Amino acid sequence: RQRLSGACDPRGGGKRQAGLETLTRADLPANDVLVEISHSSLNYKDGLAIAGTIPIARRLPMVAGIDLAGVVVESGVAGWKAGDQVLVNGWGLSETEWGGYSRYQSIKAAHLTRLPAGFSPAEAMAIGTAGYTAALCAIALEDWGKITPGEGEVLVTGAAGGVGTVAIALLARRGYRVIAATGRESQHGFLESLGAKGFVARADLAEAGRPLQAERWSGALDAVGSHTLANVLAQTVYGGAVAACGLAQGMDLPSSVMPFILRGLALLGVDSVMAPQAKRDRAWDYLDRHLDRGLLAALTTTAPLADVPKLAEAILKGETRGRYVIEIG
Ligand code: NAP
Repeated sequence: RQRLSGACDPRGGGKRQAGLETLTRADLPANDVLVEISHSSLNYKDGLAIAGTIPIARRLPMVAGIDLAGVVVESGVAGWKAGDQVLVNGWGLSETEWGGYSRYQSIKAAHLTRLPAGFSPAEAMAIGTAGYTAALCAIALEDWGKITPGEGEVLVTGAAGGVGTVAIALLARRGYRVIAATGRESQHGFLESLGAKGFVARADLAEAGRPLQAERWSGALDAVGSHTLANVLAQTVYGGAVAACGLAQGMDLPSSVMPFILRGLALLGVDSVMAPQAKRDRAWDYLDRHLDRGLLAALTTTAPLADVPKLAEAILKGETRGRYVIEIG
């Protein structure tokens, strides 16, 4: 028997409830590669999955955890061998595939990313899905091609969260003047230490506003959705772009076509879960080149697996800050 701790829904029907259970190796799905997991992470989606607010798990029982890093212990496929260091972000983990809150997991080979040489497993999980998504957003904005370092301001919403903190660190290092939209004045000093040069109060973006407002942002990275995203679109300069990845305020988008047809804006949708491997490799390379490791450490908290249920509640209430590494091994 091998001990496998995981956040699982109980077998059988009834209300969805997450808890720690001990499983055997025989309980694992029959995929290509067995990974011994050393670290996972906590993301907003993990909060949703564990709290059961939105039914993230599409089949039960489910081991939660959308991220994992560890080492291959057995492989039935060419290309992966025992000892290889790997990570997984998304690919349906915690939805249709058993995830990272487990000592061992059996993974489809197509879902594995080789751990970049520049990161330890703990650092890779400090980045995790939220940080890798921040990189996808930053790349999308840069690819739009009309946002120039040193010219104009780039807004990051949900600034004190996981996506937001990594985004600020990355964009500031790239030379953009980053303005942080946050609901927590207490975090201004911390966000400045990551590179933020100014602030917008979350409340100033949270209510319905006019479809076109004074042009301010050369570009924006939005982790919040709803009225916040609508207002950010309304405040972005002619020809600018907004990368949208989140729904912390809500999944609605109460906007109009005006910013698109009168200002030629681009709304760049960013998905991390099913992003093809080439996009992932580019994002991890971007992180390796542009993420200051000292800032990554400063925005990261490390916690044991047993803390995940209470952290899941906290992240949904907007009470967590930055990124969380979950120690498994
Ligand atoms: P997080 O750490 O909880 O960060 C979210 C931040 O949003 C909070 O720290 C808070 O920042 C702000 N916020 C919370 N509640 C809010 C509300 N009601 N109204 C406005 N702002 C609010 O979560 P995360 O892991 O960074 O994820 C952020 C979002 O991106 C989530 O919606 C997540 O589902 C999404 N996401 C999507 C992808 C993708 O593939 N598209 C990948 C990763 C994450 P302040 O305290 O600074 O205001």
